[in-house]
Amino acid sequence: MKKLIKCLTAFGDISKLKNSTYEDLKQYDVYANSIREHEGAAYFIARTGSAKKLIAYGYNNTCKFAGEESMFNGKRLKICKMDNENSEILRDVFPFTKPVSQQGKNISFGLGDRLGIASPGHIKLIRDKNIFPILAQQSIRELNLTRRSFTDVLSAASWAVFQEGYTGGFGADGDHLQDEEEIKFALNSGFTMITLDCLRYVDKNVSGYTQTEVNEIYSSLPDNIQNVYNKRYNGKVFNLDNGVVIKFETDLFRKIVLTYYGVIQYVLQINRNVIKKSVNPADFEISIDETEIPTIPEAHFFIASELLRGGVNITSLAPRFCGEFQKGIDYIGDIREFTAGFKKHSEIAKHFGYKISIHSGSDKFRIYPIISKETHGRYHLKTSGTNWLEAIRVIAVTRPDLFRKIYDVALLNLDNARMYYHVNADICRLPVIDTLTDNELQELMNFDDVRQVLHISYGFILTKYKSEIYSVLYKYEDEYYQSLIKHIGKHCEYLQI
Ligand code: ZN
Repeated sequence: MKKLIKCLTAFGDISKLKNSTYEDLKQYDVYANSIREHEGAAYFIARTGSAKKLIAYGYNNTCKFAGEESMFNGKRLKICKMDNENSEILRDVFPFTKPVSQQGKNISFGLGDRLGIASPGHIKLIRDKNIFPILAQQSIRELNLTRRSFTDVLSAASWAVFQEGYTGGFGADGDHLQDEEEIKFALNSGFTMITLDCLRYVDKNVSGYTQTEVNEIYSSLPDNIQNVYNKRYNGKVFNLDNGVVIKFETDLFRKIVLTYYGVIQYVLQINRNVIKKSVNPADFEISIDETEIPTIPEAHFFIASELLRGGVNITSLAPRFCGEFQKGIDYIGDIREFTAGFKKHSEIAKHFGYKISIHSGSDKFRIYPIISKETHGRYHLKTSGTNWLEAIRVIAVTRPDLFRKIYDVALLNLDNARMYYHVNADICRLPVIDTLTDNELQELMNFDDVRQVLHISYGFILTKYKSEIYSVLYKYEDEYYQSLIKHIGKHCEYLQI
């Protein structure tokens, strides 16, 4: 508090506050980019003790934020908690802190922030780049494991946007949602994008059927559906741009219909019952990525074509590409095979007018140049856990003792954590860290097995060390931002942004 008073003594005038530099204000723990004038009063964020606060200064009687009021230099001063209630008022008073649609933006990044403190680092990186950030992005799985709500996630993003004075717009994605209730929950919390997880409706058994079985089941579909599908696709060839040809031979076509028929019915139902009824139209992503079976381009074409005919406004679609997209590590698989498939998927998306979406998209440096080239610079890339790993990297450097405890928790809970995420990490390859010096610990963050284990165990780690982790990252906030700028910046470099 003393620093705030000193700051107001030095810069108590709004125009002085606005004209002061980052260096001027840093000594008082005030975030220079956050200073805004509203109805003659100054609003900004300052660090006080162990938490940041929103400061309102010089208002008449119109300050809507809840907080502790006092007088300073004959002006009203209010110190407000940066909680969910005040964040709702923030979005009202400063509309740039409200999430918006990504329509018209060619490159978008999902920047999931499990701790709710990474977004200022992301904003510092992307604000001068041609990237639309989805700063609020969490799945129900992440919400459960971090014990946060959609409101908490959106609130953290809005405060971050205010702290950085970022007016370029951002999105909020309810990720991998599975039913109407979850979608309504996200939309009612103010989210602007819905990623629908259709995995449960992909019939994985079809790949094991003989063609005779496929034909038999196919002929049991209602006649009108068979007729329509036959007319639209059976034996048809579709020539897309850049030499991509999509051909539906009868046997393959029937397998595709049986595998994805449920997905189409399900998306149409969700679209009709929730998406179309939403007051604010949400960006709508269709996801079929988290499955063992790669989505062949013909299946992608069929799904998209049927959904568009059914009136679905697709913003992006996430197929399951060939190879492996594991959490927190580089692409595993044959690059030539990936390139051939990815090119087709990208052309299909372009043909139908939506973006291709790449899930578990962080750290896939080997394929970024291909993504950039084949999509012609129009795609959505989702990252999340990698931002959490950067937080752990900061802890490894600044508080090796806490890092050692975190590592132990991760190892201890590895089998349980694997129930939520599929990773290759092998416990036999994990280093014993007792023999490592503190300086050697940060190097661990570059080992795939260590990354994956720490990536998937966040729920268990937070249950045990939540407050310690938050207090270290509060103290070393700048280090965390720099670490994110460097790491996500490397993504941008490989993607040629
Ligand atoms: Zn996914």
